[in-house]
Amino acid sequence: MNFLEERILKDGIIKKGNVLKVDSFLNHQMDINLLDEIGKEFKRRFSDTEITKILTIESSGIAIACAAARYFEAPVLFAKKSKSINIDGDMYVAEVESFTHKCKNQVIVSKSFLKENDKVLIIDDFLANGCALQGLISITEEAGATVEGIGIAIEKGFQIGGTVIRNLGYRLESLAIVDEMNDEDKTIKFREQ
Ligand code: 5GP
Repeated sequence: MNFLEERILKDGIIKKGNVLKVDSFLNHQMDINLLDEIGKEFKRRFSDTEITKILTIESSGIAIACAAARYFEAPVLFAKKSKSINIDGDMYVAEVESFTHKCKNQVIVSKSFLKENDKVLIIDDFLANGCALQGLISITEEAGATVEGIGIAIEKGFQIGGTVIRNLGYRLESLAIVDEMNDEDKTIKFREQ
């Protein structure tokens, strides 16, 4: 079992509706030493890849992306959630349905910060159905940049996102893959990696 799986078992809380809460160490209160370990592990897994930009989505991806950026020495760019329908032509836009909040958001990235020569590592905290990732992939590709890889802290392997993204041919590395979790007896099973 790796360091993140151990921490999920220790401090993660399984909620109804296939939601895993990791608020005490990852996306509300944050354990910076753990974030640093996550950043280092992404660098190890993508050590053969040149990365010029780390792309994530606000808000809970940002801290993990920053931790990774220290090791890749690349800037972090985060897609902003925007309610505005009047988005001018200087922005890349994608529609993303939120798994946790059950609503649709437009997410935007300024065209100034993503260029066709960029080699992008996409980072997020969770992968569930893959909507957030599909939005970030579509923005990257609209810019003519290349998705070199995707790094996820926690993939919920019983939801469809991981399979869809891997079948599309992207290199996806998830540090912990939860294959089963049960909110009644509070058990979690991780995929062997
Ligand atoms: P997807 O777009 O893959 O369906 O969902 C990914 C997004 O939803 C992530 O950015 C994450 O913020 C949120 N998310 C999905 N599942 C969970 C979960 O079980 N726990 C938490 N805390 N966030 C989740």
